[in-house]
Amino acid sequence: MPESGSGMTPDTLPRARLIDGRASAARLRAEVARQVTALGGRHGVTPGLAVILVGEDPASEIYVRNKGRQTLEAGMRSFETRLPASVSQAELLGHVARLNADSAVHGILVQLPLPRQIDERAIIDAIAPHKDVDGFSIINTGLLAARGTGMIPCTPLGCLLLLKEYLGNLGGQRALVIGRSNIVGKPMVQLLLREHCTVTIAHSRTRDLAGECRRADILIAAIGKPQIIRGDWIRPGATVIDVGINRISVPAPDGPRERLVGDVDFDAAVRVAGAITPVPGGVGPMTIACLLRNTVTAACAQHHIDPGGLSG
Ligand code: NDP
Repeated sequence: MPESGSGMTPDTLPRARLIDGRASAARLRAEVARQVTALGGRHGVTPGLAVILVGEDPASEIYVRNKGRQTLEAGMRSFETRLPASVSQAELLGHVARLNADSAVHGILVQLPLPRQIDERAIIDAIAPHKDVDGFSIINTGLLAARGTGMIPCTPLGCLLLLKEYLGNLGGQRALVIGRSNIVGKPMVQLLLREHCTVTIAHSRTRDLAGECRRADILIAAIGKPQIIRGDWIRPGATVIDVGINRISVPAPDGPRERLVGDVDFDAAVRVAGAITPVPGGVGPMTIACLLRNTVTAACAQHHIDPGGLSG
């Protein structure tokens, strides 16, 4: 950060490097597409991803549509099961069992959230672990925690790939993960430990969040509260990964407009951080790209093929 009195105006102050998740995700999808071509050409295998969507939640509809489109664009097969919000637990378990047994399906994803009458945990754990491309089942959670292996949840995997691309070796860095959910915060902690970071995890009961942030070389915010991480909490030069996706209303000449923002006050943080992900265009695009990558990994494992041998 420049000293005050340096003569710099806000527009000429240095800005953090932007971590361009869209560009990284496009490169990852291209790599996945090359692997899919090689899998088909050399082994006669076309990876297949099945998505189960229950109900008509508009956000889930958009996610599922994007997943289906990108799956096909990568050259894979896409299967979609749409079920009414009134579906019973037994019926849903039946669909999962059918997909578990289908050899054309290498990856299964049940779009969350599920309606209230469904035991989400039981459904996720019913997915065969080798087809659980979201990595949320108890087996994959345990494999990641105990051995650093298994199917890795897509959002934390996307964050890790961005960090490695921009920072290289993460060993010894002080990392702060804010948020302890099973789908983002906790697996993120495991991945950073695997990379030999010194990891702190913060949550809603953390006493001095600002102080924890100021000590972090790497800050990962997965909270779901718009812009609560302030610019003056960021350690100068730190790398900031903003997972949060929040909709806020902003005034506009023709009435209030909806805008997507992260958990970090981007405009302030970009003046302090060394590198930062924008929202949108940061972690978001990496999530689906990692889902495609996990589906190829799953297809390779099911056919005893080394995915490393598919590149080049
Ligand atoms: P959860 O609601 O499951 O978890 C939020 C976490 O934030 C909890 O651990 C909670 O603590 C913590 N928290 C809440 N308030 C505070 C606070 N004031 N200070 C510190 N910690 C706090 O959310 P998810 O993990 O599912 O998602 C987090 C965000 O990431 C959301 O905005 C979501 O939309 C986004 N997301 C983005 C994805 C992407 O592809 N980019 C994918 C998945 C999620 P406690 O445990 O104590 O309640």
